[in-house]
Amino acid sequence: MTTKRITIAIDGYSSCGKSTIAKSLAKKLGYIYIDSGAMYRAVTLYCMKNKIIVDGKFSEAEVLKAMRNIHLSFNVNTVTNNSEIYLNGTNVEKEIRGMDVSELVSPISTIKGVREIVVALQQAFGKEKGIVMDGRDIGTNVFPDAELKLFMTADPDIRAKRRWKELKEKSMNVSLDEVKKNLEMRDHEDTHREHNPLRKADDAVVLDNSHLNLDEQLVFAEKLVQGKIR
Ligand code: C5P
Repeated sequence: MTTKRITIAIDGYSSCGKSTIAKSLAKKLGYIYIDSGAMYRAVTLYCMKNKIIVDGKFSEAEVLKAMRNIHLSFNVNTVTNNSEIYLNGTNVEKEIRGMDVSELVSPISTIKGVREIVVALQQAFGKEKGIVMDGRDIGTNVFPDAELKLFMTADPDIRAKRRWKELKEKSMNVSLDEVKKNLEMRDHEDTHREHNPLRKADDAVVLDNSHLNLDEQLVFAEKLVQGKIR
């Protein structure tokens, strides 16, 4: 039986495990995986390093001007087989995950001009289909015609604990309370912003993974994929 290559859009709240599912599906299907949040994080990192953000403050015009000097790309890490983000040719996959970037990425991603540039790039990555992309506006805005859309959610306390554990494993020193507050802040900004806010696409399937392990989530998602590619 022949299978067709499709576009898979995975949206949802912060730290719902979107990227874990997305990476796993992409590997299984031989698709590209793009972490759209990493792109907004890399833009934020560039602005921090180049003093476009100072003391948490920035001018939208300055950020937009900086976009001309930002080149974002993804390369597959040959050891882990995961795609990692490069900012102007440098791998910043680890640096973008720190709390300093997490605190500023949502305000930066509310800027309309930033979103337009990043979304155009995301659409170019997905031109040939055979892609899994996760984020906040993938099913609603980046790929409104995606064949499969998942909307992931989970209990906020469970999400905060998972994220905190993950950061600790990466030796990042942060309290559970800080992580929880950051998730609440980002969820609020992401759902209330003017341009492309986080919302469930009408045709998205909800996956609440509060009490599901990874295998259970994959069984759920893979069944949906099979229904679309045959
Ligand atoms: O996915 P991740 O948590 O790394 O995303 C970081 C931030 O980037 C989100 O909190 C959100 O503000 C922004 N983002 C976005 N649109 C996307 C992906 C991420 O606005 N498609």
